[in-house]
Amino acid sequence: MKLSFAAQTKKELTQLKSKKCCESAELIAFVQHCGRINEDMDPAVLELATENAAIARRMYGLLKAETGHGLEVLVQRKMRLKKNNVYIIRMRNEIFVLLDRLSILSPERVIRMKVPDAIRESLCCKKAYLRGAFLASGSLNDPDSHSYHLEVYCKSADHAGELLQLFTDFHLHAKKTQRKKGYIVYLKEGDKIVEFLGLVGAHQALLHFEEVRIVKDMRNQVNRLVNCETANLNKTILAAVRQLDNIRLIERDYGFDRLPLKLRVVAEKRMQYPDITLQELCGVLPDKVSKSGLNHRLRKLDDIAQRIRADRGIFEES
Ligand SMILES: [Zn+2]
Repeated sequence: MKLSFAAQTKKELTQLKSKKCCESAELIAFVQHCGRINEDMDPAVLELATENAAIARRMYGLLKAETGHGLEVLVQRKMRLKKNNVYIIRMRNEIFVLLDRLSILSPERVIRMKVPDAIRESLCCKKAYLRGAFLASGSLNDPDSHSYHLEVYCKSADHAGELLQLFTDFHLHAKKTQRKKGYIVYLKEGDKIVEFLGLVGAHQALLHFEEVRIVKDMRNQVNRLVNCETANLNKTILAAVRQLDNIRLIERDYGFDRLPLKLRVVAEKRMQYPDITLQELCGVLPDKVSKSGLNHRLRKLDDIAQRIRADRGIFEES
């Protein structure tokens, strides 16, 4: 099965090597985005959940580097069709010691949803945090789909605000909006999505995105040009068809010899060259006529044709 672009991007990110400080920053993002303290267990355990096996491995690795022991991995199989498995990394020992060391333990002994100052103050760790947040709760449209879209889901408005601030630190022009459940911070501009992919280290994904985007932009440009030319061409053809209708009607019911000479040459040349443009028609007239002069004559022919139609009680579409 071919991976979606989002899944491919995430897979690439889970294979990155990073510095010790950044590993902690990414782990903090994981804990804040998809961690929970399970009080049903005694003592309470910390659980990180994800549906993505590669991300589960990454979480396990980061957590192991931070704590060393007392971890287990559970797989919950979903019975309903089309539901993915959920991988749960469970930490049993000294979870509050860990959360405190990571600066994300609140006085109420729950996970604190603020981005720690140590991360805010470090460029590399801010990027690592964004990477973790995207891996844990991010999604991304295929660049070939109808619109560019990257988003990261947050459970609370406050947490979404924190995340938005990180995006803003990198001038990413992210926006925040409420969903049925929770909030999202999202990007809509192709340029900014490319920048984001670069910041978090998804270089393969970035290249693919740019490649598709260039081809797509070119195709759109070509389509726009073609549409524009087709529209103009259609206008030209419709006008010519109408002129010919008028002229034939005049010839049949009125007679060219009753037309003033200036109109008569136009009528005759139009009959002779039914599919040339007005500009070209000017060129084949015996006397020198400008395009607006020619238009004026054609309008007169149009008036005569309308009068004939009116006399005969023909009310055709104008
Ligand atoms: Zn760092």
